[in-house]
Amino acid sequence: MFAGLFEAKSAAAPAKIATGKKKAKPGTSTESKARPNKAAPPRKGQSNAFTAKGPAETMGSGLSKKQRRKQRQREQKPGADKATDCTSTGATGGSAIQRKMAAQLAGAHFRQINEELYTTESADAVELFRKDPGFFEIYHAGFRSQSAHWPVRPIDVLVRWLDEQPASLVVGDLGCGDAQIAASVRQTVHSFDLVANNPRVTACDVANVPLPSAALDVAIFCLALMGTNYVDFLREAHRLLRLRGILKIAEVSSRVEDLPAWFAMLRGLGFDLVAKDTSNTHFVLLDFVKSSRPSQPAEQLDVVPLKPCIYKRR
Ligand code: SAH
Repeated sequence: MFAGLFEAKSAAAPAKIATGKKKAKPGTSTESKARPNKAAPPRKGQSNAFTAKGPAETMGSGLSKKQRRKQRQREQKPGADKATDCTSTGATGGSAIQRKMAAQLAGAHFRQINEELYTTESADAVELFRKDPGFFEIYHAGFRSQSAHWPVRPIDVLVRWLDEQPASLVVGDLGCGDAQIAASVRQTVHSFDLVANNPRVTACDVANVPLPSAALDVAIFCLALMGTNYVDFLREAHRLLRLRGILKIAEVSSRVEDLPAWFAMLRGLGFDLVAKDTSNTHFVLLDFVKSSRPSQPAEQLDVVPLKPCIYKRR
């Protein structure tokens, strides 16, 4: 059922969301005018569609096969085609066609925001959500809809791991989304994301986390290395971790073209690989420890870019 989850992107890229800044290469600062609705062509060799048979079907029409079958059954009932309040945009309100259109629009908007997060620096993502915090909810509704169909969610693997660790550990969940880890485990978890959509979350760019140095025993990035400046996030995790503290990374495997080169870069950042789980066909789960070596300065580090993870349009 999971075949074809991460296919190369072929559909036209969604319209660009204006953040007021240009896409930038890591380490470069840019200032430019907003470019509303400018088509952003996929960068050659960099797009990485993130679709599963199940999830992609869900995002294409907003409904799974089963849901579509149920919807057809509902439509066949007498009176089922009567339109209700046309201002209703929820997938559960309105007529079948309204629900379908609302789901399609939400899916398109989710993909657009997702692409923006993967192809710009985190400062642009901060700006995007500052201008319209509602985008964050749209993004997360789409993300939840996608991840609900995955056979394994990396976040659940991480929660199971924490269940077996001492309760005394202090954990940082960097790019926490809804802070599900904090809600599920015994340890103290500091949860950070671009927008705080519940009281457990502290809003910040994880390139700059409001915690003192060496505050954490464990730092987690679960599908959260999104900005083109993701190396800044890793440097920040290095600052936040105590010596021999654990860095746990869960990422979409196909984002990393050359794992050994990536591990070499992480070594340069002061992290030694201690465990690698590539048994899942779509996610790689990695454990590093913070070594006593200092991180290499930017000019010495051979940065390995990660491919953006783009959800395919159906
Ligand atoms: N870790 C959660 C959410 C993954 S979605 C889970 O596995 O369920 C990726 C999350 O990373 C999003 O919530 C996104 O807002 C967050 N993110 C991406 N870049 C970020 C940044 N620079 N600072 C803080 N959060 C970031």
